Amino acid sequence: MRGEDQTTDKRIGKRALNEDGEIVELEKEYYRQGWIFKDEYAFHHEPKKPCYVPEEEEEGFYTREDFLALCNGQEDIAEMIFDEVDWQHPETYFDEQFRCGELDLCGSCGKIFMSYGVDRCPYCGAGRGEE
Ligand SMILES: [Zn+2]
Repeated sequence: MRGEDQTTDKRIGKRALNEDGEIVELEKEYYRQGWIFKDEYAFHHEPKKPCYVPEEEEEGFYTREDFLALCNGQEDIAEMIFDEVDWQHPETYFDEQFRCGELDLCGSCGKIFMSYGVDRCPYCGAGRGEE
């Protein structure tokens, strides 16, 4: 382990990686709603390293790249999802945001945007529901 002390980024739980970047040891910690691993430093600085493990996940993990892939490569959305997940899988949380109207996908430019109380896509100005 090196270079992990000079940061204010929070880490919930602990992990040890082998040379290939795979998790060899994982300790989850209780955070808001569940037992998870979450590493803000990895999310911000180490895109290929594990930054999140949901409560019910035993084997796998998520990296910043996974969050970005889920969110169409949009950093602001990926950041929001990363901040909010506290037990569930990011895909589940992401889908929920669409269902409850917090996020929408613009039919015109294809970008995801925060849609609560918003009439138009903030990126291209298309009205919601317009193609
Ligand atoms: Zn748009």
